[in-house]
Amino acid sequence: MKFFLITLLLTGPVAAQNLIEKNETTTPENPTTEKEISDIPASENETPPESDSEPTPEPETETTPPEPALKPAEDPEKLFLPGFDVGRVGDRPTGTHRRLVQRTVTIGEQPQDHRVLLTFDDQIVPADPSHASADEIIEDLKPRGVRAFFFANVPNVSAKSLNPILRTKDSLENKKKRTLKLLEPQREPFIKAIRKIISIKKDDQYLFEVFNHTAFHQNMGRMKPNTAKFEICLVGIRFVEECIESAYQAERPGIKRLRYFRFPFLADPRYKNTQIELDKLFTELGLLSLGETQDSKDFSNNSSKTAYKSLDAGYKGRSYKAQKGNYGRTSKPIALFHTKTWRNIRKGVLKFLDEHPIQ
Ligand SMILES: [Zn+2]
Repeated sequence: MKFFLITLLLTGPVAAQNLIEKNETTTPENPTTEKEISDIPASENETPPESDSEPTPEPETETTPPEPALKPAEDPEKLFLPGFDVGRVGDRPTGTHRRLVQRTVTIGEQPQDHRVLLTFDDQIVPADPSHASADEIIEDLKPRGVRAFFFANVPNVSAKSLNPILRTKDSLENKKKRTLKLLEPQREPFIKAIRKIISIKKDDQYLFEVFNHTAFHQNMGRMKPNTAKFEICLVGIRFVEECIESAYQAERPGIKRLRYFRFPFLADPRYKNTQIELDKLFTELGLLSLGETQDSKDFSNNSSKTAYKSLDAGYKGRSYKAQKGNYGRTSKPIALFHTKTWRNIRKGVLKFLDEHPIQ
């Protein structure tokens, strides 16, 4: 099995999950309430059809403009092709900003025996030694042959690092230059850390992927175009993508890769103009955003018990405190954990995995 030969792996239609959206809570990683996303066009809050891999066109009215047709199951590589307008795809044919709301993980992924895809957000190399690193997670997952995604920020910087830049009356161009100056020393260590993660194989199969979670972990929910905050955020997204690309080129030359993105705090931009601008960048870079259906809320409660419950629910085809709206509706269960809290949730996650070992 090779996950990147995705055209060869696609099988028949994916069975629909019976997603149950439970109570919505507001946590540091989940600050967007249902009310806040109500200004997203109605078409983006519709119930998705049953399958991602076999899109059923919705009835069109005469006013619907023609859109480029893409059948992901036939042409999945295009989903991640830089510069390709994904147009009409899978689960929301009429929605705009498709790269921002796609949930196409099943297109390129072979299901694992435990049924839930594990994802870990934030720093892969923590500055704080009390936080776990991606290496620690890998040490536990590798012998079990369990695959996972890491959504990474740039090490040693955060939204706070930007305050001195944002406070000045410098021109936007200068602010962007200062941002790059802040990021540049991290390039080499970041690429090295990514390479280490993505080089690991079980038999002939790569187990781990690293994806884009922005450079600084800014909350993008209220960002507006042409502001320093937003422009700097885009500089950071490009920087992360460059580092990830360098790492993959070095470790897996010639292999086509998935290109996922996850919004910090799962906060996708609420303003339409911001969505349009960001969709352009996502199209240019070939990025697709990825949500979650099994939220352990480990960011706030750090509980092995909750982590186990969320995974167990996913195995049984139920979502667990998933974010409502765009992010809780993937067609297969996706668990959102945080790299840094691994030591606190490890026992529960491993208990679940050992109950459903990879055959
Ligand atoms: Zn995060």
